[in-house]
Amino acid sequence: MREDNCIFCKIANGEIPSKTLYEDDAFRVILDLGPAAKGHALILPKEHYENLYELPDKTAAGAMLLAKKMAALMKEKLGCDGLNLIQNNGETAGQTVFHFHMHLIPRYKDDGQKIGWVQGKAEAEELEEIRKLIAE
Ligand code: AMP
Ligand code: ZN
Repeated sequence: MREDNCIFCKIANGEIPSKTLYEDDAFRVILDLGPAAKGHALILPKEHYENLYELPDKTAAGAMLLAKKMAALMKEKLGCDGLNLIQNNGETAGQTVFHFHMHLIPRYKDDGQKIGWVQGKAEAEELEEIRKLIAE
């Protein structure tokens, strides 16, 4: 399914041109227009799913396999020193385009980029409560 007003549906299906790194029946991989680092790419499914919660298993598996393939290619071709694989779900988590996508961000020593979070603290009791909440 495609969404009429979704820019990533249009890009993924070739209605809007993009700098395409890879394409198959189910996915297109493009360069991000606002790169966090040289070679920042996005994996886009051609079908419209808003986020991870909506993603069918087959698409989820395909996206991860493709991430693995693209990561190896980027390491080889760009000579990056590392790579962040990032996927945002919901506005609170930083999602700005509501068509599922995965960020591949090649990293270079001294690239000056900051991707991360402020580390918190948790007592063992609290961790156990959370574990129970999720796992039981
Ligand atoms: P997110 O914040 O995870 O939803 O990421 C959206 C990403 O899409 C951002 O990194 C944007 O720079 C990128 N982006 C938005 N519009 C375009 C576009 N037309 N072509 C390529 N990348 C885009
Ligand atoms: Zn879409």
